[in-house]
Amino acid sequence: EEIVKLEGVTKEYELGLIKVPALRGVDLTIQVGELSAIVGPSGSGKSTLLNLVSGLDRATSGKVFVAGSDTSLLSSSALARLRLEKIGFVFQAYNLLPVLTAYENVEYVLMLQGRPAAERRARAMQMLEVVGLGGMAKRFPRELSGGQQQRVAIARAIAAEPALVLADEPTANLDSKTAAALISLMVQLNEEKGITFILSTHDPAVMKRVKRTIRLHDGAIVERPPDEEA
Ligand code: ADP
Ligand code: ADP
Repeated sequence: EEIVKLEGVTKEYELGLIKVPALRGVDLTIQVGELSAIVGPSGSGKSTLLNLVSGLDRATSGKVFVAGSDTSLLSSSALARLRLEKIGFVFQAYNLLPVLTAYENVEYVLMLQGRPAAERRARAMQMLEVVGLGGMAKRFPRELSGGQQQRVAIARAIAAEPALVLADEPTANLDSKTAAALISLMVQLNEEKGITFILSTHDPAVMKRVKRTIRLHDGAIVERPPDEEA
């Protein structure tokens, strides 16, 4: 069963009169239950690809299917609903909200989904426990280490039991030990809960732990690794 399918996807950003090609004819299928990493040098299109799958941005041409829906046919509000119901994010642009505690950050997404209060409370606590932060529910992001903040972001991303979690450079800014623990958590969630993960990464230690590596170079998927890596 496919959860994500890209067919001939191109993306061009317009900077004034200049068109910057970011993806050039990408075909890609991700099956339910995969744990994949998108790798490639800086500027190769990794974030662009994740933004298109998340519906945060739209392709210039080609089709992006997520959970059976052709996202190019969805209105912005239908896309927002798809995102809220089916996709969890661990993106820099969706950092933890600094004025909310760890617990409130997780509960907030459940509130956006309209879940009843009792369910929200139970589930938010349960998710913090899953990521090993049950004792830190009342802490604000600034009172947590970088690795702990990323774990809260993962708890938030999985709280709504999404089919798919997208993580853009989830181990960036983490030391190698913390990064290893974080990737172990994702492997465990993938295996035990069947959540499909698509990560982007530069980190060779992360690449070793995933089941599939998708290599991008200049906006295209390449079969063989290029000699140099950024
Ligand atoms: P990566 O995540 O692999 O570093 P990106 O997807 O961020 O790559 O970028 C791919 C290409 O698109 C790069 O040439 C980058 O400069 C360009 N790009 C990305 N975002 C924008 C934007 N918002 N406006 C203009 N160009 C962009
Ligand atoms: P905005 O209205 O600022 O675009 P949203 O209301 O969509 O933001 O989301 C508010 C916050 O909830 C986001 O900053 C993000 O941290 C979090 N969030 C929303 N949807 C998700 C999701 N599917 N997975 C994880 N976090 C999410």
